[in-house]
Amino acid sequence: MFNLDELLRPNIKNLVPYSSARDEFKGEARVFLDANENSLGSPLTKWYNRYPDPLQWEVKEKLSVIKGVAPQHIFLGNGSDECIDVLIRAFCEPGLDNIVIVPPTYGMYEVSANINNVKIKKVPLTPDFQLDLPALEEAVDDHTKMIFLCSPNNPTGNSLIREDVELLLNNYFGIVVMDEAYVNFSRQRSYVQELEDYPNLVVLQTLSKAWGLAALRVGMAFASESIIAVMNKIKPPYNINQASQELVLKALDEVEQVNEMIRVLVQERSRLEAALPGLNMVEKVYPSDANFLLVKVTDAKAIYQYLLDKGIVVRDRSSVILCEGCLRITVGTETENDELLAALAAFEPAGTHE
Ligand SMILES: *Cc1c(COP(=O)(O)O)cnc(C)c1O
Repeated sequence: MFNLDELLRPNIKNLVPYSSARDEFKGEARVFLDANENSLGSPLTKWYNRYPDPLQWEVKEKLSVIKGVAPQHIFLGNGSDECIDVLIRAFCEPGLDNIVIVPPTYGMYEVSANINNVKIKKVPLTPDFQLDLPALEEAVDDHTKMIFLCSPNNPTGNSLIREDVELLLNNYFGIVVMDEAYVNFSRQRSYVQELEDYPNLVVLQTLSKAWGLAALRVGMAFASESIIAVMNKIKPPYNINQASQELVLKALDEVEQVNEMIRVLVQERSRLEAALPGLNMVEKVYPSDANFLLVKVTDAKAIYQYLLDKGIVVRDRSSVILCEGCLRITVGTETENDELLAALAAFEPAGTHE
């Protein structure tokens, strides 16, 4: 059975967190002489001299309405990359514990584990990019503290089969991290509504993709109150700066505009999905629930370089397991996609000149 206290690193379970001035005084006051800020102001708009809300309650209240999840179930990180790092540091004892990842998948799980000297067990996806459940069962041992899943998956673009994920959630009692960075581009239901059923589930989302706010660095983790409390204990006290909090609050009022962008991007994705297979060098376009396409081509390295010479940069994934010969292409604007298609149509492989 899942037992949070047993799963946590002992030092984290016993950690007395940093208590900031903003933690120790929360009431109304006129004169703030408690945090060694600059009392005169700042060279910018007045209020940047004050430390921001360490727990970002205003942002969480607004997110709570949009996501249908209570604010106490939300953690905000400096990008979801910070959420990944905080989770690994909470649960994995360096040099002793391990995580399981299912390549090909997002690279930060492995990097974060390596930074923290946490071992990584790799259980590759099946050739159709789904979970290999028997191999996962085989791989998990007493020190496997978490399994990272990504759906829709980066770089393959597909969603994981729901029954497989549920089987894992019901049979593995470490932490299951479900990274939903691309969920807004998908018809699949988010797992945020499943938190009540699975105390070991952590869902990651981000404002960097569909919300168009990559520069503000705001990622979200959704989980049980007790997991969120642990994450809050570990994070740097002021991990989301005031400017980001203010801008995110404004952006979250624009759900309609974001939905319209998602609609356009999904439509453009379909257009590329339809047009790409007609090109000579394209061998396969994998189905995508995300804002990018994984495309198998005749000569990935040459086509990557050819596009680059024309000022178009895509991602060469040809050295990634199960992605041999593949480029990952982000869906652009209508004009950008036209330019990409025109450039590819004009490509002539080496040796075909008369
Ligand atoms: C882009 C991406 C992220 C990174 O999100 P940030 O919030 O910008 O750190 C996380 N997971 C996946 C799968 C991604 O593709």
